[in-house]
Amino acid sequence: MSESCIHPGTVWLVGAGPGDPDLLTRKAERLIRAASIIFHDALVGPEVLAIAETGTRLVPVGKRAGRHSRSQEAINGLLVQAAKDGERVVRLKGGDPSVFGRSGEELAALRNAGIPARICPGVTAASAAAASACLTLTRRGAARQLVLVTGQARAGERLDLDWDLLASGRTTVAIYMGKAAAAGIARELMRAGLAASTPALIVENASLPSEQSLSTRLDLLGLGAAALSGDGPMILIVGESMGQAEPGRPSAGMSRQPLLAERS
Ligand code: SAH
Repeated sequence: MSESCIHPGTVWLVGAGPGDPDLLTRKAERLIRAASIIFHDALVGPEVLAIAETGTRLVPVGKRAGRHSRSQEAINGLLVQAAKDGERVVRLKGGDPSVFGRSGEELAALRNAGIPARICPGVTAASAAAASACLTLTRRGAARQLVLVTGQARAGERLDLDWDLLASGRTTVAIYMGKAAAAGIARELMRAGLAASTPALIVENASLPSEQSLSTRLDLLGLGAAALSGDGPMILIVGESMGQAEPGRPSAGMSRQPLLAERS
């Protein structure tokens, strides 16, 4: 199978990146152009969708916090049916499809139906957020592990993260879907031993013109998340790596900075 075209009856799970169309991979761009039908998330913006050919059907199947437009089962069914109909199917997802994208369920449904599936990776939100702030996620000496976690618990369940692992030294914790739970997550991390002064970065709409970011500290994570009041996707990143000085910008070291220093 050519890497740039889609055989009818095949489904490609494609990473759309964090929003800026310039952060699409060239392969993602080719696949979007080659699709006859695109099922896309709410996080995929109009500028990325504009790349599709005029005749391509664009089907929103987005889920945003608390607003599920279609169940995961329904989405799986749509993908299977489109492939059986001989469409060139792209399932377009924000960021990287393999990071909190429910790709596992979709791949399993396709596999069960005997439909070939492929994945095209994308730039994940943590990478985009750190890049916007000109920070590195695993600064040598400050972090030796990067952990991506979800801040959202399953309906009716408590957020059950391995707090001891996350609070162990030299860890960068990137929290996806953590806006609502930010204050609680900070409390748990501090209870597990992470210093209240640990640097934190909060970025909303990373890579988009509407991007807002805040450099703060762990004990102010909840306050900071609430302070960026847009309703765009927000990522929270906690760890000593987030305290590194940026070229041309003052150090984000919180002892010398206003506690809620705005970056943009
Ligand atoms: N697959 C996506 C993540 C999907 S989960 C990826 O790899 O990025 C959705 C969460 O991702 C959002 O709640 C938010 O935490 C984060 N996110 C996605 N796009 C973002 C963006 N442009 N800016 C900040 N956070 C973003």
